[in-house]
Amino acid sequence: MVRVARVHSGGIADELGITPATELRTVNGRALDDFLDWEFLTAEDTLEIEATLPSGEEVVFEIERPEHESFGLELEPPTVRRCANRCEFCFVEGLPKGLRRPLYIRDDDYRLSFAYGNFATLSNLKERDIARILEYRLSPLYVSVHATPWEARRKLLNNPRVPDVLAQLGSLAKGGIQFHCQMVIVPGVNDGVVLEQSLADLWEMGDAVLTVALVPVGLTQFSHLYSGESMSAPMAAAILDKSERWGARGRRERGNTWATGSDELYLLAGRDLPEPAFYGEYPQIENGVGAVTLLRERVAAGLSRLTRLDGKRIGVVTGTSMAPLMPRLLDQLTVATGATFDLIVTTNSLFGPTTTTAGLLVGADIRRVLEARPDLDLALIPAETINEDGVFLDDEAFSDVRDACPMPVYASYDFIDILELDGSKPVVAEIAAGFA
Ligand code: SF4
Repeated sequence: MVRVARVHSGGIADELGITPATELRTVNGRALDDFLDWEFLTAEDTLEIEATLPSGEEVVFEIERPEHESFGLELEPPTVRRCANRCEFCFVEGLPKGLRRPLYIRDDDYRLSFAYGNFATLSNLKERDIARILEYRLSPLYVSVHATPWEARRKLLNNPRVPDVLAQLGSLAKGGIQFHCQMVIVPGVNDGVVLEQSLADLWEMGDAVLTVALVPVGLTQFSHLYSGESMSAPMAAAILDKSERWGARGRRERGNTWATGSDELYLLAGRDLPEPAFYGEYPQIENGVGAVTLLRERVAAGLSRLTRLDGKRIGVVTGTSMAPLMPRLLDQLTVATGATFDLIVTTNSLFGPTTTTAGLLVGADIRRVLEARPDLDLALIPAETINEDGVFLDDEAFSDVRDACPMPVYASYDFIDILELDGSKPVVAEIAAGFA
């Protein structure tokens, strides 16, 4: 059974009399367990849907659905499949106490892997799940492989019962499923021969493995389980040597940079980040692979659309890892707008100084650095720091932080999104009013 959360006015569901809290039980005689069943079973044109209305009345809807017309309903979010592993490097284990409860949920859910690109280890897959993946053709899946040799993977996932990931990927690949894989690299465990072996094994799977991203282990000051070393610059460089060799082979033989190191590896190693062509369609952008290059690309493409801001002083808040890369971008913005851009680099007070990513800065950090800058006309903060409800990781509301600051504050992905001359944007009105 799946339950309706919202019904769009004028849609098929609305016309049928389906309301929020209606329970949808079956489609064409097949039971509904989750949103995947609903998505795939309602792909037919002729449907018989058994449902229970909020009043308790049981009804059967018989529908001839016009081609491509959506039902106009949203389901309640699924119960997330929990993770059975206990990786020493798990970000959730590295969270401080006292944050909002959903942040502590360790999901490992192939359904979210398909629907949203969340990485899943597949270590909790049951036979029935494999059958569903094959029946519904859930492809591509985003898989946390970490290592293909069983011993190393067992150690990395800290789970003695992990299945053989190559066998799992192989049987899914026979059914046409493809994968974007990631390997979190833990020094001394999967950075040497294990990394080489894993890349060779994944390469042998042919077209089934679309890309492999190598990501350095990320720790906070609360990562209490972690017993290994942190990633050093020479280690990062050695890993990049491997990823670039496999990436080049991918470009030669398969037409894409098959293996890529994350931006963080390049920053740690002190190497220049690759150009856009290296990343193609940026298939692992959500994994921090190519994000800096894409930002540079977007800024370069948007400069001609920016509004003039001569004489204004704009603060740009970022974390320590992005700081060395910012002056080049801010110089371009200065030329295009006439404004002075002040880079404001802040450390992370919640997770500690080892957490350098701009997107993990918290409201308290941003408030602290901006409250001290009444000289600024405007401030831009990384949009990744707030969730869809406008809340930072430390539970501060963006609106509260903005109200506490002596200048207008905007959350920005790429500067252009805020500073372009577009009359529909609130910042343009503030600029016109001289930020009064
Ligand atoms: S697979 Fe590992 S890193 Fe991912 S949620 Fe589970 S314990 Fe955490």
